[in-house]
Amino acid sequence: MRRTGLVVWGAHQLAASMVRPGVTTGDIDKTVEEFFIRHGAVPLFKGVPGKVPFPAVCCISVNDEVVHGIPGPRVLVNGDIVSIDTGCSFNGWCGDSAMTHPVGSVDPQARKLLECTSGVLALAIQLMGQRSRWSDVATEMARYVREHGFSVVENFVGHGIGRKMHEDPQVPNFCTPAFRRNHDFELVPGLVIAVEPMVNMGTKKVRVMPDHWTQCTVDGLPSAHFEHTIAITETGPVVLTAAPVSGESLEPRS
Ligand code: MG
Ligand code: MG
Repeated sequence: MRRTGLVVWGAHQLAASMVRPGVTTGDIDKTVEEFFIRHGAVPLFKGVPGKVPFPAVCCISVNDEVVHGIPGPRVLVNGDIVSIDTGCSFNGWCGDSAMTHPVGSVDPQARKLLECTSGVLALAIQLMGQRSRWSDVATEMARYVREHGFSVVENFVGHGIGRKMHEDPQVPNFCTPAFRRNHDFELVPGLVIAVEPMVNMGTKKVRVMPDHWTQCTVDGLPSAHFEHTIAITETGPVVLTAAPVSGESLEPRS
């Protein structure tokens, strides 16, 4: 799964290098698709069933689009924030990661939103090495976002990941008594989960667009999304979709 994670990381580096005013979201998606093919990886998002099958290898969501945006002719402009979410499988194992980028220069509140969302993912990764149950991590994630004056999206959650992209358990970025009672899980070595906080500047409420996929905030305010695939090991959490460390190579060996 680490090797898959490196390919996903590489796709994100390439996508990030393209983010600037004037590029279309469709251009970014096409480049990521070619990257996966070049690396012998199978894109996971294309063809995901829905009212219409998802048509692209990335979800690209701009400004008030929270998740599941469909790449296409939309041109990025200065001041946008753009969330790119993608995943692939390699040798039968899956990886899934998302990040949100500023386009050109963004206003201070948008920058704060990006910092809060990447910050709450970093907090979750740290706490995964310190807490024994997910409910305790999720409670602190929600508190962190609240203290920054933003809201956690509750309609969408993270997930277990392995041979398939979406496996049990569900991994919310907030905690309720019902979750603690009925769905909580232990953070034990061998568990691999995709943790993916979605943070809104205003209301947590989202609605789906007529394309059947794109989820937007109901108040039109921006939203950010960061995600990593993370393994719990005997020595703590390992971020499988992080940059290569010494001795690792992006180029998949057979
Ligand atoms: Mg994802
Ligand atoms: Mg995911």
